[in-house]
Amino acid sequence: MKPDSDPEDLQPPAYEALIQFLYQAPIGLLQIRPDGTVTMMNPRSAQLLMPLARQGNLDNLFEVLDEVAPDLRAMADAAIEPGALVCEGLRMPVRSTAGGRRVLGISLLRLDAHTIMGCVNDVTHEVELEQQRLASRMRDASRTDSLTLMPNRSAVLERIQQALARPDAGGAPTFAVLFINCDRFNRVNLTLGQAGGDRLLRMVAERLNGTVRQRDAVGPAQEPLHTTARLGGDEFVVLLDGLRDSEDVHSIAQRLIDTLSRPYLIDSVEVHISASIGVVAGIHAAAEANALLQDASLAMQEAKRAGGGRHVLFTPSIKDIATRRGALELELRRALEQDELFVVYQPIVELTDGRVAGFEALVRWQHPQRGLVSPVEFIEIAEECGLIGAVGEFVLDSACRQLAAWQRRFGAQAPGMVSVNLSRAQLQDAAITDQVARVLESSGLPAQALQLELTESMAAQGDDIRARLLELKALGLALALDDFGTGYSSLACLGQLPIDTVKIDRSFVADAESNLHKRVLIEATVRVARSLGMSTTAEGIETEGQAALLATLDCNKGQGYLWSRPLAAHAATQWLAAQIGATDLLSDQPHPSAAPLRAASGFVA
Ligand code: C2E
Ligand code: MG
Ligand code: MG
Repeated sequence: MKPDSDPEDLQPPAYEALIQFLYQAPIGLLQIRPDGTVTMMNPRSAQLLMPLARQGNLDNLFEVLDEVAPDLRAMADAAIEPGALVCEGLRMPVRSTAGGRRVLGISLLRLDAHTIMGCVNDVTHEVELEQQRLASRMRDASRTDSLTLMPNRSAVLERIQQALARPDAGGAPTFAVLFINCDRFNRVNLTLGQAGGDRLLRMVAERLNGTVRQRDAVGPAQEPLHTTARLGGDEFVVLLDGLRDSEDVHSIAQRLIDTLSRPYLIDSVEVHISASIGVVAGIHAAAEANALLQDASLAMQEAKRAGGGRHVLFTPSIKDIATRRGALELELRRALEQDELFVVYQPIVELTDGRVAGFEALVRWQHPQRGLVSPVEFIEIAEECGLIGAVGEFVLDSACRQLAAWQRRFGAQAPGMVSVNLSRAQLQDAAITDQVARVLESSGLPAQALQLELTESMAAQGDDIRARLLELKALGLALALDDFGTGYSSLACLGQLPIDTVKIDRSFVADAESNLHKRVLIEATVRVARSLGMSTTAEGIETEGQAALLATLDCNKGQGYLWSRPLAAHAATQWLAAQIGATDLLSDQPHPSAAPLRAASGFVA
């Protein structure tokens, strides 16, 4: 110790004690002149700084620290006021004599014009702890979903993998993975905006956490057996671990669906959503977490396809179906390019006099290997993969051109209407009105000759869809409600829809003769429709008896195999010419093979 100040005012025992304190303090203490010359330094300082000293020379602090803190001299020159901090906890890496890396922290304080005092300590441990804390925070952040603070995809994948790796006593795994997707979440985002959507997702997360509780599992209570996680968007995962038996999975899945479908209050707006859940459990669990999650997602999509608000257990056949759908999707893209799609036409006739009122256009796919593929199989796929716009435009364009051609050929005797089916995805596309207007213009067909068919569930879908329907109607075309009776809207809702025609579903027509209940429903539908100024068309009429009955019930039009199956354009032209007695106008066509409309007078009541 090199005392430099005058210890006159200290009594000898106190001075001794101070010296002892400075000498033994477990922290480096030192005093320097403004040029760095060391005037006082305790042994701990010397010990800490020695690895930095060239040839063991500790006379000038700035020279000693020149390599690790080159700015220190300038910092000291800048802090000239008494009491000014030159630096506080400035960190400096040091290679210790033993070869290890240490970190020193130094603080310097200007005492007066001639003196700077300082302390040095070893902060290696502190720095290591900080780094560990930072790394763990970063690890947590990379494994946490920032919106809901739930574990994220990588965290839940890890936990699934752990569950998969655990040896099971009885063979069958005691865990299940539930893949949850909110139904109609897009609509929420559209109506409430992104912020509202985010709030809803946080509420969903809370409900999930609250529903999946420890009591669903066996095992030590402190062990986190279940995991709820958010994968992103409106997709969540629940890992149920330590299940008692497979029945538990079903009851938990149902409980989750019930909880999630209770109304949510967001900005005083009541929001309703439901959830579709895909479940992977037991022997069907894939060996790898990612593959397992994919299987659960496939099962979830099945739940959605079945109408949502339900859970579906994954089985290998679900994967087979998905593979087939995937293949169909690829092939459908090719089909569009290679003109494998075509349109068939099924007549719609007036039940009173048998006149041909129009045709419904129905799409077909002539697959090179599979043969004729039904629209029931591929329309939904086209919707899912975004091809419906192209398919829909093709059908609309073909149908409008076909009717325009018939009107040119058969003049006043030609049917006045062609009816085209719209899919849900088409109606959800804001561009549909422009698309229809464009097709009408390019085909030259007057808008009054076009009818668009939509189903009950599509029509009853909220204000934006209603506005779109009105936009379409404003073009001058007519709207028909297809498959009426199979959806969920009741007769009482009919008046709220901007439609012109109700098409009574085949399932009612088929049983109408034998089932009084169905007959009464048809009668009621016809009456209500008529009172609302709408006309009615019965679908799927196959027998004269059905046609006669529907006519008695005052239904306006009929469609079905009784008159004709859907026909390719060429055959439909011949059929039409035969009905209207205009085969002479088919000079460029082979002789018509279709029989004249035998039931034209037979079934009229
Ligand atoms: P939909 O619009 O209700 O069409 C009527 C379906 O009933 C047609 O089946 C038709 O062939 C069938 N059908 C007609 N008369 C009878 C009958 O007397 N007996 C029986 N058993 N069936 C009859 P298709 O052509 O297989 O179409 C099925 C569904 O696919 C259609 O139902 C429609 O929802 C959809 N679809 C067809 N073409 C298109 C299209 O171009 N675009 C869209 N979005 N959907 C289409
Ligand atoms: Mg239809
Ligand atoms: Mg129908």
